[in-house]
Amino acid sequence: SYIQHARVDGPLVMIGFGSIGRGTLPLILRHIGFEPGQFTVIEPSGGYAGLMAEHGVKHLQRALTPDNLRETLVGLFPDGKGLIVNLSVDVDSIEVMELAQELNVLYLDTVVEPWPGFYFGSPLPNAERTNYPLREKVRELGRKYQGGPTSISCCGANPGMVSWLLKEALLELAKDTGIAAAPKSREDWADLSMRLGVKGVHIAERDTQVSARPKPAGVFVNSWSVDGLLSEGYQPAELGWGTHEKKLPPLGHRFDFGAGYAIWIDKPGVDTRVRSWCPDVGPQFGLVVTHNESLSIPDYYTVWQGDQAVYRPTCHYAYHPCNDAVLSLYEANGAGVLQAEKHILTEAEITGGGDDLGVFLYGHAKGAMWYGSRLTIEETRALAPYQNATGMQVTSAVLAAMVWAIENPTAGFVEADEMDHTRCLFVQRPYLGRVEKHYTDWTPLKNRINRFAEDRDDEDPWQFTNFLVA
Ligand code: NAD
Repeated sequence: SYIQHARVDGPLVMIGFGSIGRGTLPLILRHIGFEPGQFTVIEPSGGYAGLMAEHGVKHLQRALTPDNLRETLVGLFPDGKGLIVNLSVDVDSIEVMELAQELNVLYLDTVVEPWPGFYFGSPLPNAERTNYPLREKVRELGRKYQGGPTSISCCGANPGMVSWLLKEALLELAKDTGIAAAPKSREDWADLSMRLGVKGVHIAERDTQVSARPKPAGVFVNSWSVDGLLSEGYQPAELGWGTHEKKLPPLGHRFDFGAGYAIWIDKPGVDTRVRSWCPDVGPQFGLVVTHNESLSIPDYYTVWQGDQAVYRPTCHYAYHPCNDAVLSLYEANGAGVLQAEKHILTEAEITGGGDDLGVFLYGHAKGAMWYGSRLTIEETRALAPYQNATGMQVTSAVLAAMVWAIENPTAGFVEADEMDHTRCLFVQRPYLGRVEKHYTDWTPLKNRINRFAEDRDDEDPWQFTNFLVA
């Protein structure tokens, strides 16, 4: 009784069967058609072999490496058709994307992931351990493979869905402020954002999921990949840099190549806090963990006059992870050592809470607006198995991206900003709980417990310096 949105022609291969891979499985089984016996998962762990077998999915138990990647994928795609869903860690996305072009196979992932050795123990200087060079490399390849088989880079919840929500939010804001809007091209969207006076966008998230067991000392607990959070969290903080910004933050640096839409801060993202806002709690701290959408959104929404950027919004993640992850980070940062033991909270042990994940648009005529998905653990359990609320916002975006790739098979390299947000949200929406819009009169200059010295700009509340907790 579920809508089958699309059908894969040829083999369907998923790489990685972690929290996101397992959660995506039931959505694929419901909404994507494929030939019996044509669904394979490449996953080194045998921990969930039973789950795969139960659903008739083949398990290729193998860790992909630079040495076996080519022979493995060539063997799985003999006929020049099919689709790869890459949901692994430690597998170089760019290499798989190039191979998919060669094999004429559709591709999508949720992050630009490198082989091991980039995130930790790298000899590279910090400027080169950011996502900016990774994304610039993907964009450059995109120019080479124009019109090739569709290859979607970075399409989970964020990066991914938030780019679609941002478009809906801009249209809502236009409607609520009486501004005419019928954007079609990238230029139209950038122009609309400029006319609305949006100075910046937080990807504002609050994860309130809790379990009955207090976080044990020495264990890193999170609601999704611990490896994923640690990898991106200990890259330098990174953010799209708006044209309204007056000065760089302390330890902030520009990039000396590419279109210059972002800056990086010489501190880990998980130790870089900003003031932000989410509907569940109101004002809160968020972490400026680097993400692809902090780069793709400012790039997409830049208004150019010749080679001059005359408008661009500031954009970054402002992430309040689940409380156990906040404690885990406090512990790790204090010790200067990562915990050896890791744990992802399952839907079975979570006793309450949910995930508010949306876009927070500020600096416009109505002050600030949060627009996004509010999904509780109870709603999630009722919607589909094998995942918590955080997972479902990601897996349903992966589903939407699969559908879009199949329906648009020769789009070459794309990111979520370049996909049809209406179609994608149509597919995803049944899994997002309540999609809500909230206006607030909050600014980062409001609310202090006692006054202390701080670098404030009282003339413009929306300067990054006011958000940043120095
Ligand atoms: P996870 O840690 O639960 O699972 C990762 C899986 O990859 C594991 O099962 C692991 O065995 C497998 N793996 C490790 N090395 C491999 C190799 N060499 N070859 C094949 N498989 C290998 O992670 P998760 O929570 O499922 O997240 C998966 C990916 O999705 C991560 O890269 C994460 O950053 C990303 N993610 C993106 C978003 C988003 O919104 N864009 C959200 C959550 C996760």
